[in-house]
Amino acid sequence: MLKQPVAHAAAGPSPPELDPLPNVEKISPRVLRVLGLNPSSYTLQGTNNYILGTGRERIIIDSGEGIAGWDTLLKEALEKEGATISHILLTHFHHDHVGGVSQIKSICKNPTPVAHKKLCLSTGDTIPSPIYTDIADGQTFRVEGATVRAIATPGHCDDHVAFYLEEERAIIAGDCVLGFGTTVFQELGEYMASLRKMLWLSQDLGRVYPGHGPVIEDGKAKLEFYIKHRQDREDQIISVLQRSHTSSTPSDPPVAQGSYEAWTIKELVQVIYAAYPPHLQLAAESSVLLHLRKLVSEEKVKVLSGDGADKFLLLKAGDGNAAAL
Ligand SMILES: [Zn+2]
Repeated sequence: MLKQPVAHAAAGPSPPELDPLPNVEKISPRVLRVLGLNPSSYTLQGTNNYILGTGRERIIIDSGEGIAGWDTLLKEALEKEGATISHILLTHFHHDHVGGVSQIKSICKNPTPVAHKKLCLSTGDTIPSPIYTDIADGQTFRVEGATVRAIATPGHCDDHVAFYLEEERAIIAGDCVLGFGTTVFQELGEYMASLRKMLWLSQDLGRVYPGHGPVIEDGKAKLEFYIKHRQDREDQIISVLQRSHTSSTPSDPPVAQGSYEAWTIKELVQVIYAAYPPHLQLAAESSVLLHLRKLVSEEKVKVLSGDGADKFLLLKAGDGNAAAL
């Protein structure tokens, strides 16, 4: 097991009710999806592993988490296609994406796993890192019927890489984008930049193939939604930071700049996530903290450290587009 936490679907107000997906499905003439057999509330229907190409040699992107029986599923899928794996590409070093590398290597002749070196070297000694080679931003991999270009997309985690499938103007997005709900991230500023980078890859972007959940047909709309969702949350935090603690309703006018009050994360969460059940408060606190770190790095918010929990004070409200709660 790797030391990274499993970090995928963001907690929502209610558990997801998911439509089942077939374990193996040809989802385009050049894309075969093989599920990782690891469904959960965090991994949705399981990890999506994509086999790309139309000839004998194929690229696989991600490898599930090494569940017993996944190798048999993969072997049968490849036999049906008359195909083998020549390249293993990994979107990031979370265990549900890299756990099946040895299973692929046991089935196929000698594919070389490729991953971003940064996390490979920091994941401890559970991965035999010499079998991995580095991947460069913009590096291109080709097999018959599929050309994929690596797009460095940090944010979900440091080493995250998405892949642009040129023949379909589609993105294999790893855990930057999910087929259901939103995803979690480690660094919000980088994550937002990665979402914008993917959005601007093509004027007529096609599908997004997510790391978990069903295919997203309108990739552009989904990326725009993700960006707006995060921006709305940031605006909401700024809006609360502009309020007095004694405001009785969210529609109360903001206090004057210069009279802003400092808020703890718990206080912010109690207002912003008032409709969420208590067991999601911790997840909400970590999301608010990541937003606050971004605002602190942009010098819009200041941290006041005292005896108790850190408090956060709004310095400036930005361009005035803070949304009402
Ligand atoms: Zn994942």
